[in-house]
Amino acid sequence: MPSLSTNVRSLSGIYKRYATPLEKLGIVKLEDFLYHFPSRYDDYSLISKISNIQSGEIVTVRGTVVEIKNQYTRKFFTLQKARVEDGSGTLDVVWFNQPYLTRAIAPGDFISMSGKVEERMGKLTMQVPDYEIVPQQRDPAVGGRNNNFIHTGRLVPVYPETRGVSSKWIRRQVYKLLNENLNELSDFLPPEILKRNELQDLKLAISEIHFPDTLDEALNSRKRLSFDELFLTQASANLRRREWQKTLAGHVFDVDKYKKETEKFIKNLPFELTNAQKRAVGEIFSDFSSSKPMNRLLEGDVGSGKTVVAAIAIYLAYLNGFQSIFMAPTEILVQQHFRTISDLLSPLGIRVDILTSSNKGKAGSGNVDVLVGTHSVLSDKIKFEKLGLIIIDEQQRFGVEQRAIMRKKGKNPHVLTMTATPIPRTIALTMYGDLDLSILDEMPKGRKTIKTWLVPSAKRTSGYEWIKKQIKKNGSQVFIICPFIEESESLTTVKAATKEFEDLKKNVFKDYKLAILHGKLKSKEKEETLKDFKNKKYDILVATPVVEVGIDIPNADVIIIEAAERFGLSQLHQLRGRVGRNDRQAYCLLFTESINGNTKQRLMAMEQTNIGAELAEMDLKLRGPGEIYGTAQHGRRFLKIADFSDFSLIKQTKTEAEKIIEKLEEYPALFKKIEEINTKEVSPD
Ligand code: ADP
Ligand code: MG
Repeated sequence: MPSLSTNVRSLSGIYKRYATPLEKLGIVKLEDFLYHFPSRYDDYSLISKISNIQSGEIVTVRGTVVEIKNQYTRKFFTLQKARVEDGSGTLDVVWFNQPYLTRAIAPGDFISMSGKVEERMGKLTMQVPDYEIVPQQRDPAVGGRNNNFIHTGRLVPVYPETRGVSSKWIRRQVYKLLNENLNELSDFLPPEILKRNELQDLKLAISEIHFPDTLDEALNSRKRLSFDELFLTQASANLRRREWQKTLAGHVFDVDKYKKETEKFIKNLPFELTNAQKRAVGEIFSDFSSSKPMNRLLEGDVGSGKTVVAAIAIYLAYLNGFQSIFMAPTEILVQQHFRTISDLLSPLGIRVDILTSSNKGKAGSGNVDVLVGTHSVLSDKIKFEKLGLIIIDEQQRFGVEQRAIMRKKGKNPHVLTMTATPIPRTIALTMYGDLDLSILDEMPKGRKTIKTWLVPSAKRTSGYEWIKKQIKKNGSQVFIICPFIEESESLTTVKAATKEFEDLKKNVFKDYKLAILHGKLKSKEKEETLKDFKNKKYDILVATPVVEVGIDIPNADVIIIEAAERFGLSQLHQLRGRVGRNDRQAYCLLFTESINGNTKQRLMAMEQTNIGAELAEMDLKLRGPGEIYGTAQHGRRFLKIADFSDFSLIKQTKTEAEKIIEKLEEYPALFKKIEEINTKEVSPD
């Protein structure tokens, strides 16, 4: 019998086949289905006799199938027509292009259908309803007390989907698990916390978040589960800090002794450090000279100059006789950091090496002062003689990675995590309570702000013409960002990069050189394309948001973001940071087809401000839960259900997390849960 801890991949049939797409949704074990929360509910709770239905209503009808047939209208287009009767009357039903329905539904079946009813050629017709065939024997009801329907006749959960895995399929799995395995869940929150915060039992919350009878029930469950999420995040950060403070720095660096060298290094840089950079360097140096290992988050907008701060830290470690690791999430970023760090540090005789899955360098020999790499630097094969400093660029799970590294390396190196994700300070301090925070809130001098325009579809053509002029006049290079690689049915309005690319090449930019870059290309191809783009072999790079994380193309002046309304402000801001890395004026054009009032207001903020933190605050107010801090690269959201803008819940959970941490040992179930979060392995590439 599979249990909640069973791995999806270890099961047979359809599970195994879906394992990879499910992983994309964060579903690895069966239990993860229960924590894959609905993004919304379809309200199908109005159940009606056929004779009472009105045109325009969204209703549920239950009756017997009288007939169902395929009707071929054009070569590639079919209609599925059915008739259903319920004693009060008969109703026509129609679906489009789902010929398999004639096999799934048969005359005589008892069917429950939910959908919109409209008048078609004078007759009431139910359009493309969700349906379920009702078997003789129903499973016992889940969640809702009297309702054992899954897809119809109730509030029906709608789940985030991924290619090949539909919401309906997920719904069935969740329902089955709730029926068969719910009892395996045990509440890890101490009763006193439940009581003090008026939280419902975990089992009830999990079953009602999926299948609520009323929206109030769903809200109640959401409160409990959001509490869990925020509370656990904070409790685990508190625990990490507690542990961290027990450890002593393996290495106290002497800062004063090498003052001359570091000052000279800074003076010889081709630019003067911003005040914010100076402040960050000061904070890092003071950590270095304390007896606790540094655990610091360096937050700064794209282009604020985090890398050079890292280089200075590495230099000081080197002067003290210690090695450093510089970790980045993708090969492209690793390549880029490797070049930057080599350029800055090799002239001083510092040995810089690179390690990725495709580029093994000479690493592992101990003959290296700085190793730049992906997660593979954490592999046990790589031994360091004297590891003193670890820099982690662009990671999302701040704090957790660090601990994993500590455990792996068995030493207490200083750790500096860097991010361009604009996290408002208050939230950073709450959510990453185990980290100290440095913020680069100032851009290098002379940097022009990027002019940003909202371009509605009516102005698209003139937008393209303007771009051509920019390329001709200034030799500008252009990014065109499309949200997804392949056209996906649920996002038909979104421009697909590949199609877009062909389109642009054939029709719009005939006389220009275009290349395409997306996540499905091999990393070799990606590097090649980027290198060529950097060397100006192309005028225009059509790309998915893979370019987001930190590619440096100094000659790129213009970025177009397609379907801009699909991105969060913070994400748009990060994308925008891809241009404007030289002294010419840079431009960001936000293309959008859907301009309703809200969207317009949100996107106009991009025209008005260039400060990441401000946009983050705005996102916080305007956008749904969690979305802001999600990483496009990993397709995962940082918070699944809780809302960063729910300050009162954040405060409430913070208080509880602080209270409990002192006597955590008294609550083994909770302790175990928190430990689990903190010890999740960081898998090498
Ligand atoms: P990010 O914070 O996005 O990682 P980088 O470290 O890549 O930013 O820096 C962006 C660019 O700015 C680099 O080309 C870097 O050399 C340059 N830079 C960094 N600091 C300064 C400064 N104080 N003045 C001028 N240019 C700087
Ligand atoms: Mg960077």
